[in-house]
Amino acid sequence: MAYSCWLECIRGCGKKHSIFDAVYRCEDCGGLLDVQHDLQALQETSPQDWKSLFERRTRSNEWPFGSGVWGKKEWVCPPIKNENVVSFYEGHSNCFWAERLGVEIGVPDLWVKLSGNSHTGSFKDLGMTVLVSAVRQMLAEGAAVRAVVCASTGDTSAALAAYAAAAGIPAVILLPSGKVSTAQLVQPIANHAHVLSLDTDFDGCMRIVQELSKDPTIYLANSMNALRMEGQKTVGIEIVQQFDWEVPDWIILPVGNLGNVSAIAKGLLMMKSLGLISRLPRIACAQAANADPLYQSSLQDFEAYVPVQAKTTLASAIQIGDPVSYERAVPVLEGFDGVVERASEQELADAAAKADRTGMYACPHTGVALAVLFKLVDRGEISSTDRVVVISTAHGLKFTDFKVGYHNKTLEEVTPRYSNPPHKLDADITIVSEMIDQLVEHL
Ligand SMILES: *Cc1c(COP(=O)(O)O)cnc(C)c1O
Repeated sequence: MAYSCWLECIRGCGKKHSIFDAVYRCEDCGGLLDVQHDLQALQETSPQDWKSLFERRTRSNEWPFGSGVWGKKEWVCPPIKNENVVSFYEGHSNCFWAERLGVEIGVPDLWVKLSGNSHTGSFKDLGMTVLVSAVRQMLAEGAAVRAVVCASTGDTSAALAAYAAAAGIPAVILLPSGKVSTAQLVQPIANHAHVLSLDTDFDGCMRIVQELSKDPTIYLANSMNALRMEGQKTVGIEIVQQFDWEVPDWIILPVGNLGNVSAIAKGLLMMKSLGLISRLPRIACAQAANADPLYQSSLQDFEAYVPVQAKTTLASAIQIGDPVSYERAVPVLEGFDGVVERASEQELADAAAKADRTGMYACPHTGVALAVLFKLVDRGEISSTDRVVVISTAHGLKFTDFKVGYHNKTLEEVTPRYSNPPHKLDADITIVSEMIDQLVEHL
């Protein structure tokens, strides 16, 4: 069966391009582009057969289908030849039952999808595998691409650097100086990318990258590039698969540039069009109050787009005031009965710490999503019988300064409710025993 896909303007003006063209906006009307699939060809396979195929490939070593992304290759990017796929077998991250936290907040059917349990420690790997594979195929077919470039709040750059290095393709990375974690800064350095640290914020880096990529030999790797969405959309599909093809009631995720939420919705809509599911979950978009353009726009029912000047937030990967995929995300909120809520620095830090006390190790962005979960439960929007999935977007170990600062009480705008600093004691058995007696109940 020949499956195909192409780039098409999301504003419906009808303009189309090959997925291998270095274009990121419609040349006619300036709208964003999306990958469209030949759904008719995909419909010739029954929903049951798709499910069996995806199940059979899960975690297999049959290249490249053991990857969570490439196991759904026909739905993701069929024109890529298997030999051009650049993959670290991303995806199939665990979705675990957060039993103790769920009971504490009165929503016992609470689950956390650990998208950050991935090669470079964030969900960005899912989109980057598709984009870098496409570039590899373009190069194999003689395209003139000198380098792949991105602006980043830290995780896109880590993913781009790793996948580009695996394929031997030069990567150029623009980071806002001093605004990414130490781990995120060192990742592209280690992978031998060219790291340019600019004295601006993410939005400033994004403006420069858009100018640079007008040169077709400089290929753009930000989520404005529709190929990233195709990989990221597998998160929504994977969650449903992990529940034996049952759709949860809610998916909650932290949002910044609004690519991931648009992608997840796209995957779920594709499942519905192809008959694998018959209903959709509700989606909650969680923003940091210090960078909340989507929240501000939601207050005006999305009649006006309200970009903001993003202020410093601990959730540095979503410190974005002018989200590129706004136009993609608004229809998602309408189609998925969506809500937008925000969390202050205090709320996101305490939410992450509260989750950590039940065994998690939540990054600050996951903290934003958890804080929003708590709010939606408190005001009765999420009910106690709902099945809720929180998407954890990055690995907590990338944000050590956040954890250390919280427990040492040195974070700005935060007075920690759950700090747990170590007790410094002399190495003396009596002193140590006395301390344990103070800390742990007697039986
Ligand atoms: C990129 C990122 C986000 C936000 O995703 P968008 O697609 O920009 O909305 C959230 N959390 C983490 C950890 C990220 O790296």
